[in-house]
Amino acid sequence: MRGIGAGDSIPMPMARQFSQAEAVQAPRQFDGTPAVHPACVSLPTRQCHHVLANKAENDRLARCEESIKQRFDEIVPVLKEVAALGASRDFTEQANRLAEQHLGHRFPDAVLERSWIHGVDVPTLYSSSVFSALTAGVEQFSQRIHQELADGQSLDALLVDCGFHAVNVSACADGRLKGLFPYILRLPASDLLRRSAFAGTLFDVEDDILDWQAAELRRFREGYPSTSDSGTRYLKVAVYHGSSLDPTHQGCAAHQSNEKVAMEAALERLQQFRQGIENAFCCGASTDILLIGLDTDTDAIRIHVPDSQGDLSLFRFVDNAELYKKTLGMNADQARLTIYEAIENVSDVGGWGQGAGKPHDGMRRLIANLLINNLSQIEYVAENYGGWYPDKGHGERFISIGDGFQELQVRNLAYFARLDTVEEGVADLDVGVKIFRHLNVEQGLPIPMAIHYSYDANVPGHKDRIVIKLQRVAAAIRARYSDLLSAGMLYLHGSIQDQKLGSPLEEVPLP
Ligand SMILES: [Zn+2]
Repeated sequence: MRGIGAGDSIPMPMARQFSQAEAVQAPRQFDGTPAVHPACVSLPTRQCHHVLANKAENDRLARCEESIKQRFDEIVPVLKEVAALGASRDFTEQANRLAEQHLGHRFPDAVLERSWIHGVDVPTLYSSSVFSALTAGVEQFSQRIHQELADGQSLDALLVDCGFHAVNVSACADGRLKGLFPYILRLPASDLLRRSAFAGTLFDVEDDILDWQAAELRRFREGYPSTSDSGTRYLKVAVYHGSSLDPTHQGCAAHQSNEKVAMEAALERLQQFRQGIENAFCCGASTDILLIGLDTDTDAIRIHVPDSQGDLSLFRFVDNAELYKKTLGMNADQARLTIYEAIENVSDVGGWGQGAGKPHDGMRRLIANLLINNLSQIEYVAENYGGWYPDKGHGERFISIGDGFQELQVRNLAYFARLDTVEEGVADLDVGVKIFRHLNVEQGLPIPMAIHYSYDANVPGHKDRIVIKLQRVAAAIRARYSDLLSAGMLYLHGSIQDQKLGSPLEEVPLP
């Protein structure tokens, strides 16, 4: 039996399970040879069982992924059936029956009723169905967020115990990283965890310096989560990505699939952040930086281990696929010990990766926790997909603009661009639109774009100001992509949410 989790009330078929995955062929690498899985060499013909992988959580996450994605993936087949109904007498009724049965909602009546004039308006029905799937998904998983918050309290305790009073993670906006927190790193929603996504992991250094100031002020004023004299640190993490199967085509689009360039760019921003604080506040010792690389084909991470001065090297890292392979078959204690040893040993490497000794004890413990969490994810991909994701490239269902949906963090569900104004976020937006011109427009489907911001209900007037901001962003997007808009190939949806996690979604009409 699977664990009970969000989505269990709706019977949904499972993601491809290993019994079926046995029939899967190893994918071809870029040079045409069959790939060898970096963590489990016997894949795809044998199932991996790592002693530290959390099977119950993997089962629950598989159901979440399947039920969220299924809401979106049923849309096109249903629309094909609707289009085939043609001008039958009871078209509206039949179309709505199909929609209710397979999608769980009705189509907008006005759109169906117009069908007899110019035929079925597939782009409008498609977009409205995507936005309905999104709203239903948020509703379904807001319950889950409350559970995560409870779990997050133990994450907060772990972070403070490791000597961190805030962790701020920036990743690439690529949809394949959308499951970074719940899946790849297994980090629940938490008060001490901030997240953002930017094309190519080119995060906003100034914004993060402001966030650092807010975190330090809070410690000074409220003593939360640690007092200002306690010596805990603010940790800034950057996550870049590459593809082991096809490194020169399926890597980070923002860096032309050049993993070295992607790494260097992320490291450079981390160093600018740290240096910026040191220069302005002469207290650089209170910040730590960490660089993580992700293989989007297997979800295995590598963690670049800082030295005793907190400095990073592109050449000094622990590869978790290697660790999985090395510890497979060990008992839990041996496996844990091997992971801790790997982190210690990497600090002794010479040559280009040489650094000034080991990082502090809390950093080593945090890295070990992240690596152990990620072992479960490597096994998740092995168990549900035969080791490698079948959608090795882009397959996002919509573009998410603004603050993003905390509830919907699943691989390839959305291309996420975190932005406050279109002028500032235009590079990220353009990358997203380029991806969707290929994914949707070339197939005759429009681009669904969901603009979403959160507000603080404690601050008077904030909600009204956020609505105005959202409408301003929507108008700027329409102006920038007027060609798509006039061709009926761009649909926008606006929503806001109180920043308290698990709050209901409030739709904002876009004039
Ligand atoms: Zn990227």
